[in-house]
Amino acid sequence: MGQWQSEYVTGEQSPSWRGGWQPYYGKDWNKQNRQARKRDDHTCQGCGVHQSEIAYTLEVHHKKPVRLFDNPNDANSLDNLVTLCRPCHVKMDVYARWLFDKNGRDTKPAHPLQSDSAIARVYLNTKTAPS
Ligand SMILES: [Zn+2]
Repeated sequence: MGQWQSEYVTGEQSPSWRGGWQPYYGKDWNKQNRQARKRDDHTCQGCGVHQSEIAYTLEVHHKKPVRLFDNPNDANSLDNLVTLCRPCHVKMDVYARWLFDKNGRDTKPAHPLQSDSAIARVYLNTKTAPS
């Protein structure tokens, strides 16, 4: 792993905000990404920070990871997308990785992030996660 990545080991495998390589998110990703931010009123659904309060573009998170879909386009349904600020995005990625681990959440003790209010808002009431 390159040194520039080391501080982000808990984030996306290749964070798009670093301007580099990003995983293939399907052909409608750009459109759905914009739609999700609009639907969420350009507000982080984890902590409530508004686009106007930060100096970068809010990010859009797949609640259920893209890699678990046979067709990446299916991962981009608005139900599966949520607008987040960077700090919340990092947390959600950590949580999602745990939640959707192939061993299954039912066999594990609760994740420490489960009591995080941002995680709770995005994941504990979601209809799409997990199945
Ligand atoms: Zn946030």
